[in-house]
Amino acid sequence: MSKPEHDTATLEALRILGIVDSVPEQAFDDLALIAATVCDTSMAVVSLISGDRHWFKSHYGMTLEQLSQDATLCARFSPGSETTAEVADATADGRFAHSPLVIGEPRIRFCAGVPLLTNSGRVFGTLCVFDQASRVLSDRQRTALEALARQAAAKLKLRSMHQALQQALEAAHNYQAELRRLNKQLQAQAITDPLTGLYNRLALAQQLNQAVAQAERAGGMLSLLLIDVDQFKSYNDTFGHLAGDEALRRLAEIIREAAREADVVARYGGEEFVVVLPTASVTGALALAERVRGEVEKTQWSQRRLTISVGVVTRQAGHPRFSAQQLFEDADQAMYRAKGAGRNCVAVA
Ligand code: GH3
Ligand code: MG
Ligand code: MG
Repeated sequence: MSKPEHDTATLEALRILGIVDSVPEQAFDDLALIAATVCDTSMAVVSLISGDRHWFKSHYGMTLEQLSQDATLCARFSPGSETTAEVADATADGRFAHSPLVIGEPRIRFCAGVPLLTNSGRVFGTLCVFDQASRVLSDRQRTALEALARQAAAKLKLRSMHQALQQALEAAHNYQAELRRLNKQLQAQAITDPLTGLYNRLALAQQLNQAVAQAERAGGMLSLLLIDVDQFKSYNDTFGHLAGDEALRRLAEIIREAAREADVVARYGGEEFVVVLPTASVTGALALAERVRGEVEKTQWSQRRLTISVGVVTRQAGHPRFSAQQLFEDADQAMYRAKGAGRNCVAVA
């Protein structure tokens, strides 16, 4: 089993490495400049160790932005060393003499590096100063360089924590947006009939109540159509449920196409559909009912001819039976009269 401290250390180091490749920042450039000034060197870098890359969060006096593990000098101080290392003359030190940075540009001679440590003591980078002339740091310079390294480490930790927090915040925002989207989707599903995509019975009740209330406020009128497919049980029994479903979907399209934008089209139940026409007069309601009936009659159904019976009710607000339930009951009665009259017809309450 891994020790929890170890996991924390790994997490911390990973979080800090999360800022590799971030844009330059004045605060880190300042630290490199101060390090070079304090140590009286021409170059300084704050670097992060990411795999085999040494990536420079800031650099002063040199244009390189990163080095591979092979090329870097800092890495050749004992790897993972937690103490300050200093090389007075790299050309005279076997570990560095053949480094391209020593042989070629920027022709480094002097080099000193202080490790940057995580809270749990893991090395995650270095603060290094370089110069083309050999030298030795004074005790005060070394002490100051180490203090600067602690500042750099603290600043990098804060910076990475800030970034991690921002990422967490962004994730929370995305999560919230996803929740809102799912919520909307659920709300839509709750009022939609899955077979036809029309409003379901629940939504119909809400819409009808609203339309009734609105008509009452405006003193207007309201019409309701109840549409029932004729002999649909035998259609189903003969051609199967799938064929029945297909017919119901097609019928839903016919009704929706015939209705106007403001009309509420719903699947009330099995093979029964309702259209609420806010403000429509009896003439308008009858016209729609006839249009749908005629369209169904002349449609080429895949199995056999299909027809519908329609009950229509139109009421003025203030009528003693002007309520959602009574309008519905009266349309239902009218629809049964249409059945009684031989089906494939429209009856008005
Ligand atoms: P009527 O002319 O008197 O209305 O006769 P009907 O056969 O249409 O009346 P009934 O109410 O007895 O039958 C309705 C049938 O509708 C029963 C069932 O087979 C079918 N049905 C109801 N819901 C669905 C559905 O979701 N899909 C399919 N395919 N069929 C359904
Ligand atoms: Mg029925
Ligand atoms: Mg029927």
